[in-house]
Amino acid sequence: MSKIYDVIILGAGPAGLSAGLYSGRARLSTLIIEKGVDGGQIAITDEIENYPGQIPDGETGPELIARFSKQAERFGCERVTDTINKVELKDKIKTIHCTNGTYQARTVVIATGAHPRKIGCPGEDEFSGKGVSYCATCDANFFEELEIYVIGGGDTAVEEAMYLAKFARKVSVVHRRDELRAAKSIQERAFKTENLEFIWNAIPVELKGDGMLQTIVLEDTKTGERREVHADEDDGIFGCFVFIGYLPNSELFKDQLETEWDYILTDEDMKTSVPGVFAAGDVRKKSLRQVVTAAADGAIAAIQCEHYINNNFSEEELQQ
Ligand code: NAP
Repeated sequence: MSKIYDVIILGAGPAGLSAGLYSGRARLSTLIIEKGVDGGQIAITDEIENYPGQIPDGETGPELIARFSKQAERFGCERVTDTINKVELKDKIKTIHCTNGTYQARTVVIATGAHPRKIGCPGEDEFSGKGVSYCATCDANFFEELEIYVIGGGDTAVEEAMYLAKFARKVSVVHRRDELRAAKSIQERAFKTENLEFIWNAIPVELKGDGMLQTIVLEDTKTGERREVHADEDDGIFGCFVFIGYLPNSELFKDQLETEWDYILTDEDMKTSVPGVFAAGDVRKKSLRQVVTAAADGAIAAIQCEHYINNNFSEEELQQ
């Protein structure tokens, strides 16, 4: 634990890797801690087509993020794969306790992203991995030529439904209203997809089956009426993919800095309520959660780390 980094970045999604690129380029000693694969939610996104400057025809999330990672490493970022268990953010030197080691820095950028929101109905956990999924790219091929129900009506639900329609015999999007939240351009493509249909004004209230998911109980959000949809007898199973938004990964930090609905509050310079601690990307309260805004947050946070260090540490302290 002898080395004190200038910046420790928590998370290697678009926000964290962008912060790493900018802080490495500013010649700050930088460590990025990530527990799994790079990319966060982008790692499980099949198609990205709206990150400015990317390959215009679209590309997969992992393809895009591989270049983020390479660029951060090119500017000298150190990397470690470890799980963060506890953080001490309030001292002048911040300490990050992980499973395999403890790391210290003058500044911290929290870029831990968000995770999928669950429906919260009976059967959801029981059938997770047995019909229920939160990742189309990971699980689509298990449902080749079967039926799939997609829950949600936002960009993610509709885009992933179109992706799933390439595998499944039929995909039904179950949305709680009679109008999609997804962008119009995404809706237009969805309405043209042959084996994609919509079940309006409905929410799943129970998932059932015998070992594998076979029945979804749907409730009409207008009348309260319930009905069951069953797997085709020959299939014996169907897929239920849940895309109803995301929740911030802020559990480890929220008792040490200000949050709202668990999202970390920052100003426009990504400063949190704790000096020397910045937040970037989906974990912070913001109006648009996209790769482009995450990358921008990361860049701003890294440059603010540089300013903070220059203003708060003496030459002597920086030699430690
Ligand atoms: P989102 O925009 O928050 O949409 C969540 C959807 O789930 C909404 O349709 C919502 O219904 C529904 N929902 C929420 N809670 C529910 C519940 N308990 N039961 C049933 N339905 C529920 O989330 P998202 O689609 O994951 O998108 C997140 C952000 O990423 C957005 O800013 C989006 O624009 C962006 N994104 C962009 C792209 C792209 O541009 N290519 C792709 C993916 C994501 P209501 O509509 O009734 O609220």
